Formats: sequence, structure tokens, C-alpha cells
Amino acid sequence: MYYQSLNGESTKVNFETALKKGLADDGGLYFPENIIPLESDFIKNIENYSNIEIGLKVIKQFVGTTIKETDLIEILSKTIDFDFPLIKLEKNIYTLELFHGPTLAFKDVGARFMANCLGHFNKDNSKLNTVLVATSGDTGAAVANGFYKVKGTNVIILYPKNKVSEIQERQLTTNGNNIYALRVNGSFDDCQKMVKKAFIDKEFNEKFNLTSANSINVARWLPQSLYYFFAYKVLKKKNLVLSVPSGNFGNICAGLVAKKLGLPISHFIASTNENDTIPRFFKSQVLKPKPTIQTISNAMDVSKPSNFVRIQEMYHNFKNLSKIMSSYSFNDKQTLDTVKRVYENKNYVLDPHGAVGYLGLKKFLSSSQDRIGIFLETAHPIKFSEHIEKVIERKLDVPESINKILLSEKKYIDVNDYNDFKEKMLFLKY
Ligand SMILES: *Cc1c(COP(=O)(O)O)cnc(C)c1O
Repeated sequence: MYYQSLNGESTKVNFETALKKGLADDGGLYFPENIIPLESDFIKNIENYSNIEIGLKVIKQFVGTTIKETDLIEILSKTIDFDFPLIKLEKNIYTLELFHGPTLAFKDVGARFMANCLGHFNKDNSKLNTVLVATSGDTGAAVANGFYKVKGTNVIILYPKNKVSEIQERQLTTNGNNIYALRVNGSFDDCQKMVKKAFIDKEFNEKFNLTSANSINVARWLPQSLYYFFAYKVLKKKNLVLSVPSGNFGNICAGLVAKKLGLPISHFIASTNENDTIPRFFKSQVLKPKPTIQTISNAMDVSKPSNFVRIQEMYHNFKNLSKIMSSYSFNDKQTLDTVKRVYENKNYVLDPHGAVGYLGLKKFLSSSQDRIGIFLETAHPIKFSEHIEKVIERKLDVPESINKILLSEKKYIDVNDYNDFKEKMLFLKY
């Protein structure tokens, strides 16, 4: 299995190189050269397979010959050692809870898979790597957790000042050891721009031996396909519709990969907050990002979703794309009203991202009966307790892992722009 750059000007690379480079030399995202559907017998009998076995079936072709099967099984066992419960909320509406990993958001699977693969590739290598990652809130925490104390790897996290929740900021800034947090005076898109610039900055890249851990990295992006298989394993129905709270569009794009692999999902809904570049695209067929808007579902405050080019690669034709995918946008008021209503009616506490996913699903189902819908609950509500507790009018229980970081001191370095960032990085002793 080889990966090609979507800018079309770099040579093909294998999984190991795609993982280590993150982005191709021509600045393009890597994309699998081909996606081979899995045997239909496997999908028919999916309930007989463990999550690790499903992981192996799905991931094997993307890793190719770069990791031996026994090692891959070990990596998967370290990656998916927690649950992915599917809970029925209403008639024909289910939620797939993806927040039972160590940092309480769905990004743990991709981040841990990538960290374990990189650890595997570097086990005999003495050269120090730097994982550079921009975060809108949850990625940084998952990556920090996945790479914490991994030998030979430092992690630099860029996060937007005043635009992540208190718990998210603590998860980013209280690790210490090989994890460094940089607080950027700007938006997530500004952080992402700096990361992209650092990668094409030869001097910088050579000194730090950079790897990206954003959802653009194939090792973070592709394992997310597993969620869709796990959902289908429990709810093996026809006419399944999946609503995915979307920001950078990595997760939903991984869902579309699952479909290419043969998983029978009939429709995908990309549910967004007011950063509605893609919902507008589905109306006008024009991609026209606006400045990023700050919302309470902050992990989706992205106006230029990097992964959308991968979706366009899979579905060149707009007509074909719109047959299997829709996209809707919701504002903060609708989101909080939904959190309140679902709590009052169903005694279930949504987080703001899950609430956006729920809204997208309801909207689609209102004009399309006979379908069964699953929305992804991508984060634990405690990460957004300041908003949630106000509307449900009660305190949430604080998980043990969060209690600990509430007592630790936040440590970060402020940066203003790319030059400032570069200067401070060159200064960092590590
Ligand atoms: C990152 C994130 C999203 C958006 O996922 P993308 O793959 O960037 O579209 C949604 N919800 C939560 C809680 C997240 O952390």
C-alpha cells in the first residue's frame, strides 16, 4: 500500500514515511493509492469478531508491509483497550459514545495508534523526533497523552489563547516531561497555518525532525474508520445514517473510508457549528471559508477543514457526493437548547459537539423516514462543564482523571506569529 500526495507532485511513499512526514513535500495531504473492499463474509459476520480483530482487518491494508501482523496486533491492543458503547436514546436514534479513552474525547484512538506506530518505527533509532500539533481543544490532549514519556519524541502543542475550555487547557499544559504547550494569540486556523509553514520551512524541519499529529496524518486519520465498524457490529441494520460532529472533517472522512471498505452505511451527515463552510458548499458548490467563529463546540471551530480535499478525492462528482452526504450547521443557542431538552426528556447529558451531531441527525431524519440514525458523541460533557451545568442546572460528576489535573500548575509559552514561534522554538532547550 502506497500513499500519494493530493497535490500530485511528490513521489509515492509507504505508511511509515507518510506517518513520519505527515504532509508530503509538495504540501499536499497523503491519500491511499487504492482502498480495497474487505470480504463481504467478514462484514456479514462482524459480531463474531473482537474489536482488535476488526481493527486488524480494517487497518492491515493501510499499514502494508511496514509493520508485522503480530506487532500490529500489539499496537491495536494498546490503542483500543476501552469501550465504545452504543446507547439508544429514542426510537431510531442512537448515540455512539467515543469518549471513554484517557482524555475523554474521540481523538484518543487516532493519537494512541499513531504514537504506538511511531514508537515501533523508532525503537532502534537514536534521532530525536518532534511531533508538532495544532489543536482546537481535544487533539493536543490526546496526542500529549499518547506520546507522554515516549522515548525519543518531544511534542509541541499549539493552541489558541482563550478559545479552549478550562479542562482542555489543563490537559494541554499540565503534562511536563516531553510535552510543551504553546499558547497562540489567534484562532485554531492560525495554529494550523503555523504548523503547515513549519513543515515547509527546511531549516526548521531539519533541526526538529518534524512529524505532524493532526488529523491530516494518515496514522491518526485512518484508525477512526474503526468507530463505524464498531457501531455496525452492535446495530447491524439496513438504512443506517451516521451523523458526525465535524470540524476538520477527519472523522467523517474516515467514515467514508469505512464505506469504501464495504461497510453498508447509507448516508453521512456532517453536522457543524456556525463555522459552516461545508454546509454552504452543499448549497452552492463553492468552497468559500469565512473567518473562524468562536463557539461552545470549540473543537469544531474550523473554517478551512483540511480533510475535505480527501472527501473530494473519493467523490469527484458533486452529484455522487450529495447522494451519500449532507451537511447542516447549528448555532450555540440551538446547541444548548438541545442539551437542555435531551437532558429533561431522556435524562442523557450531551456535550456541545454531540448535541450538534444530534441536531444534524434529527434534521435529516425529519425528511427521510425509515432510516436508523446514529450520532457520534465525541467528547465527555465534563470537558465543557461551564456551559453544560448552566443549562441542565446541576453539577456533573468529575471523573478521576480530571480531578488530578485540576490541582496541577498550567505551563505554556505565549507566541504571536510564525516568526515569534520559530524564534522561541529555536530557543527551547531540549
Ligand atoms: C476534533 C473534534 C471534533 C471534530 O472532528 P474532525 O475530525 O476534526 O471533524 C468533534 N468533536 C470533538 C469533541 C472533537 O474533539
